[in-house]
Amino acid sequence: MKGKTGRSAANMGVVVGILAISWAVSVPAAAKKACPATRSDAPLVQSPPANYPAFYQKYVNANGIAILGDADVCDRSLQLAYLIISHMLYKRGDIRETLVARGAHIAVYSEGNTLLSVPEFASLPAAKKDTCGVTGFVKNPTSAVCETNLIGINDPFHGRASELIHEFGHLIHNVGMDKTTHDAVTVAYMHARDQHLFTPNQGSPPSYAMSNEMEFFAMATMAWFSAANWNAPFNSVHEKDRTAQATHDPEIDAILKDIYPEGDWQYPKK
Ligand SMILES: [Zn+2]
Repeated sequence: MKGKTGRSAANMGVVVGILAISWAVSVPAAAKKACPATRSDAPLVQSPPANYPAFYQKYVNANGIAILGDADVCDRSLQLAYLIISHMLYKRGDIRETLVARGAHIAVYSEGNTLLSVPEFASLPAAKKDTCGVTGFVKNPTSAVCETNLIGINDPFHGRASELIHEFGHLIHNVGMDKTTHDAVTVAYMHARDQHLFTPNQGSPPSYAMSNEMEFFAMATMAWFSAANWNAPFNSVHEKDRTAQATHDPEIDAILKDIYPEGDWQYPKK
């Protein structure tokens, strides 16, 4: 930006020099994380289209669904997100088309940011700051996830849970799903709730999945892809994997079978 005072180039040099010293003192080079290398199994990361907020500096186009990251997100993290959501939508081009038509997108934010740094969720209550993920509805068709979980850097849940699979399950449910299936999820939730299925491993009901039909579907999605933190106190042992869930609750299994691919795909961590 041009200075109003017409500051000379020499003076500007002094200012820049001072800034450089303070940067060197306050941010040690060792604090920077080591990003895994990108791979050829996903598209290269690009600059985002101009219609997205300036917070986003990185972008992968997942067949019409934008995967966005801030400047410090590793390129490989966006590639991992691409691989995960591409697999989840593999069977249902119609759901993808609805998501694309409604402007659905994914936001990945680096460890130096919080959920409230994501422009689409900046107005959330401050108490939500340290939550790793959240998803909006049709008016805000965004799933935001923290990079630490996605790529397993400084993440205590890595290897046991995928926040992106949970949040993208919400996005499919909230934004991409047809009304008949949406209604069927609600009925399946009420049946599971009334039959006291999915009791928590410890403590009193409800388990997290029994909070409401949205968490029911997102947790069931995690179980389908063996991506749930199933042995946590507030979750259920029946969310361990697809087989455990199907045996326990055939109704939600039938709905998931209609949406997601079968097979032994494991969500990528690298
Ligand atoms: Zn959720």
